[in-house]
Amino acid sequence: MRTAICPGSFDPITLGHLNIIRRASRIFDRVIVCVMKNSAKTSQMFTAEERTDMVRRAVVRYENVEVDCSDILLAEYAKQFENPVIVKGLRAASDFEYEFQMDLVNKNINPSLETMFLTASGKYTFLSSSVVREMARYGADLTGLVPSELIEEIERKAKQWGKNNG
Ligand code: ADP
Repeated sequence: MRTAICPGSFDPITLGHLNIIRRASRIFDRVIVCVMKNSAKTSQMFTAEERTDMVRRAVVRYENVEVDCSDILLAEYAKQFENPVIVKGLRAASDFEYEFQMDLVNKNINPSLETMFLTASGKYTFLSSSVVREMARYGADLTGLVPSELIEEIERKAKQWGKNNG
């Protein structure tokens, strides 16, 4: 049985993330989506619990996908699985440089840990969690950017965030 780990900050989860998770679920027997609690990329908008809960709701329809969260290094986290593969999405050259560096760091800690990259779908090449947060702050329509069942919650949170920070 081959396990994939899809790590990320998911702050919040977007349709770009979901596209990678769904494709990984067709390739691997089991997919663990791991919400990294202390990722350097996280904003103040969503807590780790909120991010994890949103990911859970978004992947509920995929039978072989599970959700977990972690506050330890990914290379350490991966040690609990048998020969796991990290699966990440690649959008642009900037993603490549960062991911290449992360792979070297991971291999230093856990030499047998491999990372596989799936190229972003053309529709989602420019989609990131930070774009979603920015659009939500300005009250823009989030249709087509995040799972529809999460739109209301993200909008509510952005409004609340605006009140506390503006
Ligand atoms: P972001 O870069 O949006 O803040 P994360 O840190 O949560 O997202 O990213 C987790 C993984 O998801 C990374 O491998 C990233 O490249 C991938 N990813 C994020 N957005 C997309 C997208 N639109 N298409 C494909 N992969 C993506």
